[in-house]
Amino acid sequence: MSQFVQEMMDKVTSRNPGEVEFHQAVQEVIESIEPVIEKRKDLAAARVVDRLVEPERQLMFRVPWVDDSGNVQVQRGFRVEFNSALGPYKGGLRFHPSVYLGIVKFLGFEQIFKNALTTTPIGGGKGGSDFDPKGKSDNEVMRFCQSFMSELFRHIGPDTDVPAGDIGVGGREIGYMFGQYKKLTNTFTGVLTGKGLDWGGSLVRTEATGYGLVYLVDRILKDQNTDWNGKKVVISGSGNVAIYATQKVQELGGTVIALSDSSGYIVDEAGIKLDTIQDIKEVRRGRIKEYCDAHSGATFVPRGQSTIWTVPCDVALPSATQNELDGNDAAALIKSGCIAVGEGANMPSTPEAVAAFLDAGVGFGPAKAANAGGVATSALEMCQNSMRLNWTFDEVDSRLKTIMDAVYDQCAAAAEAYGQKGNLVAGANIAGFEKVANSMLAQGIV
Ligand code: GLU
Repeated sequence: MSQFVQEMMDKVTSRNPGEVEFHQAVQEVIESIEPVIEKRKDLAAARVVDRLVEPERQLMFRVPWVDDSGNVQVQRGFRVEFNSALGPYKGGLRFHPSVYLGIVKFLGFEQIFKNALTTTPIGGGKGGSDFDPKGKSDNEVMRFCQSFMSELFRHIGPDTDVPAGDIGVGGREIGYMFGQYKKLTNTFTGVLTGKGLDWGGSLVRTEATGYGLVYLVDRILKDQNTDWNGKKVVISGSGNVAIYATQKVQELGGTVIALSDSSGYIVDEAGIKLDTIQDIKEVRRGRIKEYCDAHSGATFVPRGQSTIWTVPCDVALPSATQNELDGNDAAALIKSGCIAVGEGANMPSTPEAVAAFLDAGVGFGPAKAANAGGVATSALEMCQNSMRLNWTFDEVDSRLKTIMDAVYDQCAAAAEAYGQKGNLVAGANIAGFEKVANSMLAQGIV
């Protein structure tokens, strides 16, 4: 580790004790941007990096709610408003029992650079709660969302901070939170994205992260003079990102042969039937092994037995959660001949895995670039809300494609400019950083 990286990491770890995911996210960025800091003395003098790793504002609050048995439950709510150099804070809310400040800060930090790459005017933020929607009734989810928004509403707004979904927060949760915000403020505004299509939502927002991921990896495949046609694809997860990535891969001629959830993974060499997955996950909120009841050729492997990355494939799209793909998994994928990896989730690959992919010359699309299509389409939703009109599916989809091309081009150009041609990890961090850092410099010491 260089002296610059060591000094920065010493400061970050001692100021943010125990927040290991945040440390991991910061270290990757600091390592990538070191050559920029060496070249740009103006950024060093203005202590841009020291300012960037400190959120502008961090909110933590109590979220009490009453379950269906009449018991009082207490959750913790978070919103980290990380950086507003480029626009209003923007980023999702995650509802999952693992959520604590370190997770929200890693996600918020990543969001700054990802959002910068989208070419749209949005800053970076993230929030959530340790509430677990799994197994809860609709009424319990509604009461929780209303209590959560009863505090959050005073901190957000369409020109201030615009939350959206993430793990555990989809259309249902956004609806309940939007209803509560509207009631408390007596305003109908674009304060949340991922809204229903009849009340301010944008076409393509549901599909956007998965579609964007496939568009970005398409560019990586093009670099290798190939395309999706005939490719065997393994996608982890079976939520919003995985489902719409599967749909787009299938449309472009690839075969998705495996998907997973927290209980294990399924393999269907004949190609996953997406209707069945959508029924299990989007309608019934069930477990992935139910897929095998409908398709006898498929197998289910429970969690702990082996990981989904042992399934040989041409392309891997980790789209479940952070650190789900480690050095051993990367070695297995490389051995099986995998040529491209695109991160649908946020920070799904450990640093060891990322290093292994880059060393082996596997085309690697890091999360900040590869999953930027979701938040980019959120920005398009904000734009439509401001204009009070709705674009067609094709209009939004073609803007999404243009944005994903721009994301790729910026990353590739920055990597090349700093002598690391083809390294999209360095490219994404450098391109995102330069835009945010220059804007912070222009706006003075604030
Ligand atoms: N949670 C998504 C992400 O990680 C989307 C955020 C948004 O649409 O604001 O980028």
